[in-house]
Amino acid sequence: MKKIEEIYPLLNQPRRVVIVMHQKPDADAMGSSLGLYHFLRQLGHQPTVISPTNWADWLKWMPECDGVIDFEFSAEKAIAVLDQAEWVFCLDFNTMSRTRHMATRLRKLPATKILIDHHQQPEAECFAYGVSNTAKSSTSEMVYDFIIGSGHAGKINKDIAECLYAGVMTDTGSFRFPGASAAVHRMVAALKDTGINHTKIHENLFDNFLENRLRFTGFVLQSRMEIFYEYNAALIAIPWKDLVRYEIKTGDTEGLVNYPLSIQGIKMAALIIDRDEEVKCSFRSKGNFDVNVFARTYFDGGGHVNAAGGRSTDTLDQTVQRFIQALKENSSQLQ
Ligand code: 5GP
Ligand code: MN
Repeated sequence: MKKIEEIYPLLNQPRRVVIVMHQKPDADAMGSSLGLYHFLRQLGHQPTVISPTNWADWLKWMPECDGVIDFEFSAEKAIAVLDQAEWVFCLDFNTMSRTRHMATRLRKLPATKILIDHHQQPEAECFAYGVSNTAKSSTSEMVYDFIIGSGHAGKINKDIAECLYAGVMTDTGSFRFPGASAAVHRMVAALKDTGINHTKIHENLFDNFLENRLRFTGFVLQSRMEIFYEYNAALIAIPWKDLVRYEIKTGDTEGLVNYPLSIQGIKMAALIIDRDEEVKCSFRSKGNFDVNVFARTYFDGGGHVNAAGGRSTDTLDQTVQRFIQALKENSSQLQ
């Protein structure tokens, strides 16, 4: 993988560009992709953003989000655009498997692939150019660096700023995680100078749900959360029937995994959800316990030291049992 800087001189020539993010995109995946989209358009490129799957309603306020193609829903349209692409930017993921049903097609695609990502252990051989930096707070911060680094600071307008602000704010847990460096705060100041209404962005992201979602949160915290004080860990395991009962949609379970970390002494929290297609796992930790390694070792996943995800093809109950066994095996690291 060549350095991302080597792309900068090539940016002047307009191209057909596709921007891809990971499945079930969060605000950083969608925000960084749309931020880059607005930038590339200003340079005269023809960018199209493709998501491997659908996304949460609370992302739909982002400028031009309604132009994003859902690969699962509009496969033919997405494939036609991909086949024409000269460049494919891959944002906020670093292994093709994170693009679900797009993965095989992306691997085979002859277009030049460019990585911008902050997760651990990139599949570097898949990308012609790129930057992978786990010290970065968010992919949105890296898109900002890309714009500045390529000498286009003046192109950062309100549309770009709204998208990038949403990504960096959510991936830093509203600026509380260690990744919220001085550079991040300087970037936010520059984004703010474009005239964005950050209060509105917080409301769009966090005060934009239906009643059922809050009642669901109350129910699962009461009935589906188990604390393992001997391992300083907690688990929320949600059966499929709960998702049906509360009419849970994409994005409604975002953030749920963080609640147990507010209990004194809890260093690691897991959320295991029985979705129709697979059992989805989310892991969060505080301090040194590395959930990226944990997710890779036991649940076919990965991510960051303090936030990672994975999956299981077992039943929910079997997955929970495997999780408890994994806690036992990691008992000393969790003390
Ligand atoms: P979440 O629990 O919110 O789905 O994911 C937490 C973090 O881990 C995110 O940065 C996400 O991109 C990453 N992640 C989630 N699932 C996987 C996975 O299966 N593989 C890898 N490599 N990263 C994942
Ligand atoms: Mn991210």
